[in-house]
Amino acid sequence: MIKNKHVAIIGGGIAGMEAAAVLAKQGLKVTLIEKEAITGGKLNDWHHLFPDFFSPKTVIDNLIAKTNHSGVNVVYNTEISKIEKLNGRFELSDERDTKFYSDAVIIASGFRLFDATLKEEYGYGIFDNVITSVDFEKLMKTEGKLLTAQKTEPKRIAIIHCVGSRDAKTGNTYCSKVCCITGIKQAIEINKILPDSEIYCFYMDLRLYGLNFDSLYLHAQKQHKIQFIRGRLSEIAERFDKSLQLKTEDTLQGRPLRINVDTVILLIGMEPGASNNLFTKNNKVTIDENGFMKPINMHENRNSSTHDGIFLAGTVICPMAVNESIENARAAAFEVISYLEKNKL
Ligand SMILES: Cc1cc2nc3c(=O)[nH]c(=O)nc-3n(C[C@H](O)[C@H](O)[C@H](O)COP(=O)(O)OP(=O)(O)OC[C@H]3O[C@@H](n4cnc5c(N)ncnc54)[C@H](O)[C@@H]3O)c2cc1C
Ligand code: SF4
Repeated sequence: MIKNKHVAIIGGGIAGMEAAAVLAKQGLKVTLIEKEAITGGKLNDWHHLFPDFFSPKTVIDNLIAKTNHSGVNVVYNTEISKIEKLNGRFELSDERDTKFYSDAVIIASGFRLFDATLKEEYGYGIFDNVITSVDFEKLMKTEGKLLTAQKTEPKRIAIIHCVGSRDAKTGNTYCSKVCCITGIKQAIEINKILPDSEIYCFYMDLRLYGLNFDSLYLHAQKQHKIQFIRGRLSEIAERFDKSLQLKTEDTLQGRPLRINVDTVILLIGMEPGASNNLFTKNNKVTIDENGFMKPINMHENRNSSTHDGIFLAGTVICPMAVNESIENARAAAFEVISYLEKNKL
């Protein structure tokens, strides 16, 4: 019987919640450990989800209901910093040295957002009218409008792709996968609230991998008059009236371009979670060349870490959208059950 077995899950984002609910529904004892006072992870800050403008709150509420009904024990305000294997069981500890014991562990501690101040030439944290895609989500969620720092409606807005992704200077050469479509979604939202504004997306190339992503891109151009310019931004300068001058190159036309706008939105990338390095100590869990948690086999089994009994779920493995994170977490739960079945004696 594996029903008396105990699984500890680190991280109460959507991936951790889904894995916890699936395992508890199968009768296992599950402890979900979250460092914040609430579960739901990054989705708590998102306004609407691409590609269909679905409510992130509904996703979180459904997962809360699932974890409650299945009897998951949720522990809040607890940040796990150490995983060790002692006498055949796992011991997890937080910074206050609180201990949790389990027969298997799922790491679902998610991703970190790129710190846009590191891209100094874009002036985030220096120029008031440069914000990030995350600031935009929070603004839309709390205020439902976009104003300049001078409290006027911006007439021209630039959205900059690949900030902290596909950029050797920042150390992140990989693509964060979700920001192209996030930028398109945000451009449409701006056009809806500021229909007279001009909106420009500056991209290297558009990576629209998902179902309906391309149609949203066409819709953005046709219905919302969003203009897409292929070119990498070199720098932003602030003008006397706090508007911004962008220096870039239109690489399709092959000519340098200077454009003045009122607001810039930086599409910041997804970075490996802050706890990943801590988890590699005291056990055989490893990270890949980018710092994401390394699966034992990226083709057939992305949910098993390089340590027997420690599993991975969601964006702790690599950038993923909501649906992939949830599906991936369900697969992680299945791997845990197989492992416990195999080791039940
Ligand atoms: C700007 C932006 C917009 C996005 N918009 C969309 C969208 O519209 N549609 C879409 O499909 N996807 C979107 N995504 C992707 C989406 O945010 C992710 O798919 C989702 O957040 C992944 O969930 P997760 O549980 O893997 O990670 P997270 O959301 O990062 O959750 C991880 C959880 O673990 C906790 N945690 C971390 N470390 C520890 C620790 N050591 N101990 C205990 N707890 C810990 C954290 O507090 C957090 O609650 C967007 C991403 C970005 C960057
Ligand atoms: S998804 Fe788009 S914006 Fe994000 S890193 Fe990839 S190419 Fe750049």
